Amino acid sequence: MNTREWIEKLVGFNTISSESNLELIDYIAAYLKEEGIEPTLIYNDEKTKANLFATVGPNVPGGIVLSGHTDVVPIEGQKWSSDPFTVREAEGKLFGRGTADMKSFIAIVLASLPKMKDANLKLPIHFAFSYDEEVGCLGVQSMVKHMADHVAPPRLVVVGEPTSMQVAAAHKGQHVSKTKIVGREAHSSRPDDGVNAVVVAAQLIQFITEMAEEARILGARDEAFDPPYTSFNIGPISGGSAFNIISNTCEFDWEFRPVPNDDPSAILDKYNRYLHDVVEVKIKEKFPECSVENEVWAYLPPLKADPGSDGEALALKLANKNETTVVAFGTEGGHFQSIDFPVVVCGPGDIAQAHKPDEFISLEQVEAGEKFIERVIEVMC
Ligand SMILES: [Zn+2]
Repeated sequence: MNTREWIEKLVGFNTISSESNLELIDYIAAYLKEEGIEPTLIYNDEKTKANLFATVGPNVPGGIVLSGHTDVVPIEGQKWSSDPFTVREAEGKLFGRGTADMKSFIAIVLASLPKMKDANLKLPIHFAFSYDEEVGCLGVQSMVKHMADHVAPPRLVVVGEPTSMQVAAAHKGQHVSKTKIVGREAHSSRPDDGVNAVVVAAQLIQFITEMAEEARILGARDEAFDPPYTSFNIGPISGGSAFNIISNTCEFDWEFRPVPNDDPSAILDKYNRYLHDVVEVKIKEKFPECSVENEVWAYLPPLKADPGSDGEALALKLANKNETTVVAFGTEGGHFQSIDFPVVVCGPGDIAQAHKPDEFISLEQVEAGEKFIERVIEVMC
């Protein structure tokens, strides 16, 4: 199959993160086996999803890892002009869920496999295709563990997220938490008989808002980013049942996106100290069954730039660019960097088209992606 056929094939699998990706993974695995490549599948605990790792060429140091996620974001509530899982071509663009983010990159890699095999690679090209990227980079973590133990250190990891083939050397991190408050129910006319969990949540949200303001004015800065400081957000909140009941539970999600030189653990420590030592202590004193907990449920390490490094120079050569950039979105790159693999983000398509109805990739970007992979093959020979 050529690139175009692979894009159609991959988009045709509904791999929204809430669904299994096994049909897609099994299809790719069967193809690789036919081509004489033995893939390793790394499953989640429920065996409903898997990462796929494979190596073309000898497993020696100095290779290139081509990394992509197989899941896509939901289509719920979005107005599409045609079926999101059937590729439609119009005006030099391919429309479909995942065309930009990021099945086209994987399609280009897979369509290039015969060329890789013919090239008699001296250095390896590794494929690292993950699940559950869109819900907090959950899948890639077990694959990174596997790679740390089994893969000779590569010269570069290319995370093929859509950058319009720019070389992005850095991005912010992301920590997503859920705070849960257990208060005590009572009739609203008797405030001393209860603890209002919604009020406690408001107090904690106020504290996060103050931390955000402090980060904006006094915190770590990196002018490469917009905004150049660590940002915070409060997400969904739910609690309470009626205006005349003192609310006994409340929970809310919140996140912060640290610039690469910030210290996320210091931020979490500060919040946890306030949460336990100031807020929880007070309500427990009143009613011991009350509690407040915060759990970080998704964590994305930042990607730190390594200016002047061999990996960066190689990436610029492959992309035919003179300088690196940064991206505003998070990727799996930080996880690869945590095992000391050099990483850049560089892939076809525009992130502006991702996650939206009528997502598309231009044919010109597909071609630019193919050229990039051709240069990868040349360099590994
Ligand atoms: Zn993506």
